[in-house]
Amino acid sequence: MRKPIIAGNWKMYKTFDEAVAFVEEVAEHVPSEDKVDAVICATALYVPTLTAIAQDTALAIGAQTMHYENEGAFTGEVSPAQLASVGVDYVVLGHSERREYYNETDEAVNKKVAAALAHEIVPIICCGETLEEREVNQTAAKVTTQITKALAGFTAEQVAHFVIAYEPIWAIGTGKTATAEQANEVCGVIRSVIAELYNEATANAVRIQYGGSVKPENIDELLAKEHIDGALVGGASLAPQSFLALVEAGARVND
Ligand code: PGA
Repeated sequence: MRKPIIAGNWKMYKTFDEAVAFVEEVAEHVPSEDKVDAVICATALYVPTLTAIAQDTALAIGAQTMHYENEGAFTGEVSPAQLASVGVDYVVLGHSERREYYNETDEAVNKKVAAALAHEIVPIICCGETLEEREVNQTAAKVTTQITKALAGFTAEQVAHFVIAYEPIWAIGTGKTATAEQANEVCGVIRSVIAELYNEATANAVRIQYGGSVKPENIDELLAKEHIDGALVGGASLAPQSFLALVEAGARVND
C-alpha cells in the first residue's frame, strides 16, 4: 500500500514571519508519518529556519527548485549540496512554471534528479500537458516523454522512491481542477510508463501526485482514485487550516 504524500508548493509567497508562523502551527498538528507524508516546499531562503522548526515533527521541508551542480559560477542559483546542508528532504523539479519561465528542460530535470539522489533528497518530478496538447490528444505522449527523459539512467530501486506529480498546466492556479477521472487516467499512464521502463513492482511503488487547483473540497475524490497517491498543492497550501485539511484527508486514505 502506498503512503499518501501531500506537498504544499508555496511558490513566491509569504514573508519570513508568515512562513515561520505557519510552520510552527502546522508542525504541531500534522498527523503521524505512518499515515501520510506532509511536506512544505518554501523558498530556499527560509529552508534552514523551517527545517529547524520542523525537526522532530512529522512535517518535512522541501525546496521548489535547484541547480544540478554542487557549486560553481551560477549567480543566483541554489545547489543540491547547499540544500542538503540545511536539511532539505524534498525538492520539486520540472514544475511547469520553471519550465515555462526559466527554460528548465527535460535534460536539466534528469540531471537534477541525479543530483537530488546523490544528496538523499527525494525528487518530486513534475509533468503535465497544456490545454492545446490536451485538445489534440497529446496528453499521454507529453507525459510519457517528460517522465521517460526525467528517469533516464536510474535503477528500478532508485525510481521506486521518487515522487511524480502530474499537473495539467491548464489546471494550475486556474480553479479548474481536472476531474478525478481525468487525473486518474493520466496518473495511470505514468504508472504504465514506469512499468514498461522498469517493472510492475517499481510502478506499484512509485507515488504519483495530482496537482492543479486541489483544495479540501476535492481532495477526497482525487485520493479515492487508484493511481492518485497525493497532491502537489499551490494556493490551498498557503493557509494552515486548508493545508492541514488536505493532509488529514491523506491520513484517512489507508484507515
Ligand atoms: P495550484 O498550484 O494548487 O494553485 O493550482 C499547483 C502547483 O502549481 O503545484
